[in-house]
Amino acid sequence: MVATTAATTTKLVVRGITKSYLSDGREHEVLSGVDFEVRSGEIVCIVGPSGTGKSTLLRTIAGLTTADAGEVVVDGTAVAGPAPGCAVVFQDYSRSLLPWLKVEPNVALPLRGKGIPKDEQLRRVRRALADVGLAEAGRRYPWQLSGGMQQRVSIARALASEPELLLMDEPFASVDAQTRSDLEDLVLKIREERGVTVVQVTHDIDESVYLSDRVVALGGTPASVTEIVDVPLPFPRNQHDTKADPRFAQLRTHVLERIRGMSPS
Ligand code: ADP
Ligand code: MG
Repeated sequence: MVATTAATTTKLVVRGITKSYLSDGREHEVLSGVDFEVRSGEIVCIVGPSGTGKSTLLRTIAGLTTADAGEVVVDGTAVAGPAPGCAVVFQDYSRSLLPWLKVEPNVALPLRGKGIPKDEQLRRVRRALADVGLAEAGRRYPWQLSGGMQQRVSIARALASEPELLLMDEPFASVDAQTRSDLEDLVLKIREERGVTVVQVTHDIDESVYLSDRVVALGGTPASVTEIVDVPLPFPRNQHDTKADPRFAQLRTHVLERIRGMSPS
């Protein structure tokens, strides 16, 4: 098995992240002093009610937004823009895939212009598509695929760059329940096979417990980390046995308590 909770190398440090937006002519502080660390090979979910600042935090980690204070450190180096070895998947797959390109060139997009030989690009694209269960879909257009399949293509595109750190913002929020379970299992499989470190934002507490080595609970206005919850459920996990484990119910109740009533008004 690849590194899980036993991992000891620190992959990501989020330290003192504070961020305000200007709205209605005044400063509105969204995040205040957010601190946590992620070890190499871990899956960490960030949970919190809608509007807490989860996307703001993930975009800051991805280097797509600048914080007002604090720092993001990847592999020991403070990053000021998109970190090398980092890939991002967003919720809205329909806007992230280019409808005029077939699946293979969509997945190849992040590899373009980087001096990677064409045959190596193709190898990576095909491996990524096989990893997400879409080995046969490369010659189709995104709009010929279901929503769940399109989100798999978005994940394949992130994997094609062979990231060490995969950041995902509510990636399964727009798909049906069955597809959501399948995609959760896909994340576990990808971590198992590639040893990638995953930071995933979700508002779904069951999902956070099911996937994570540790859950980062955000709460308060402005938001900060209310607790980092260890999830000692064994791997490999599966939807039936893991969720039937009495500890699963205890953990979800615990996480819920840490974010409940802390939704911004
Ligand atoms: P979450 O992802 O947890 O739902 P967000 O990070 O999207 O939360 O938003 C947190 C708060 O910041 C919300 O009140 C939102 O309206 C506000 N916000 C987010 N992005 C911007 C922006 N670009 N400009 C102004 N306010 C923003
Ligand atoms: Mg969000």
